[in-house]
Amino acid sequence: MNALPQNLADPSAHTLPGREPLIGKSMEELRELVKSMDEPAFRAEQLHHWLYVHCVRSLDDMSNLKRAFRDKLAERYQVGSLVIDQKEVSQDGTTKYLFRLPDGKVVESVLMYFEERGTYAICLSTQVGCAVNCDFCATGKLGFMRNLSVAEIVEQYVYVQADSGKEIRNIVFMGQGEPMLNYDNLMQSIHILNKSAEVGIRHITISTSGIVPRIYDLAEANLQLTLAISLHAPDNATREAIMPLNKKWPLEELMPALHHYAGATGKRLTIEYILLAGVNDQPSHAHDLGKLLQGLKCNINLIPYNPIGDGYGYKRPSNNAIHRFKDALLPYGKKVTVRVERGVDIAAACGQLANKVQQA
Ligand code: SF4
Repeated sequence: MNALPQNLADPSAHTLPGREPLIGKSMEELRELVKSMDEPAFRAEQLHHWLYVHCVRSLDDMSNLKRAFRDKLAERYQVGSLVIDQKEVSQDGTTKYLFRLPDGKVVESVLMYFEERGTYAICLSTQVGCAVNCDFCATGKLGFMRNLSVAEIVEQYVYVQADSGKEIRNIVFMGQGEPMLNYDNLMQSIHILNKSAEVGIRHITISTSGIVPRIYDLAEANLQLTLAISLHAPDNATREAIMPLNKKWPLEELMPALHHYAGATGKRLTIEYILLAGVNDQPSHAHDLGKLLQGLKCNINLIPYNPIGDGYGYKRPSNNAIHRFKDALLPYGKKVTVRVERGVDIAAACGQLANKVQQA
């Protein structure tokens, strides 16, 4: 465990009663805010710059704002509300941040470095716990606790950017929670991350377990981001056994939604497939998957399961089984990749640390 710089562990960063976080506010909202305080319009630009370019943690750091304005702001607002609880750095450089929220709950974000591209990506959480209850997932075992606010989602990015000093140009919504079940806050967070933090929309990925109505909504929004679907099985029986939500939205409903999304946006989907030994990793599953995805514009990302503890009874397939599965898929003409595991020594698969701490 790495020692924390003092300012990161400052408990005064918690939301004080009656004080609202400024992070998460769009330029339009900041304009309204300064107008309501009878301040000149350019103050909104200044605030925006401090929040999203300099990523400061305190109103006192906004040095070009006059003292009287800062004091007035401090009566009702503070910069953010997350407090770092733990930070772990893996041997491969992956860094996991565990944040404590004002109500004492915790969520995590994971900063990853992609050496081959020389870029950083961050995995953000959108909920505390998750209602989807995938059988192999640590976060699912927590059950659903609450949605994260726009401020809490955006602040994960801003905080890690400031703390790491890295330019984080890729965002994946793949942390704790099902992003599409916190849809409005997700959309507003994406708006701010794109317009204020200037992360390119094509560099943002939403990963969903398959909330069908929201896939149609996202198609309508036509945002040109990447949609990743956690498919994990090529047939209803196998999928239902590991993802109970398949009962609500079986493949007969999910697949047309995916075709619609690809058609409406022109975007290639990413199909995520977690490989669980003896459950969904046989060549017959690969052939069924290849057939299921015929005609769909997509890439396939195979994710060998990374068990923690007893892995809830699930195991990672052998390397031979992983390669056999991949080889069986290749004739179906899709680009197939096997995800490189990151942060294995610090349990950086999403949901793992939060689960350990939340239950303590
Ligand atoms: S895998 Fe994702 S959708 Fe499933 S329970 Fe875990 S966090 Fe929720």
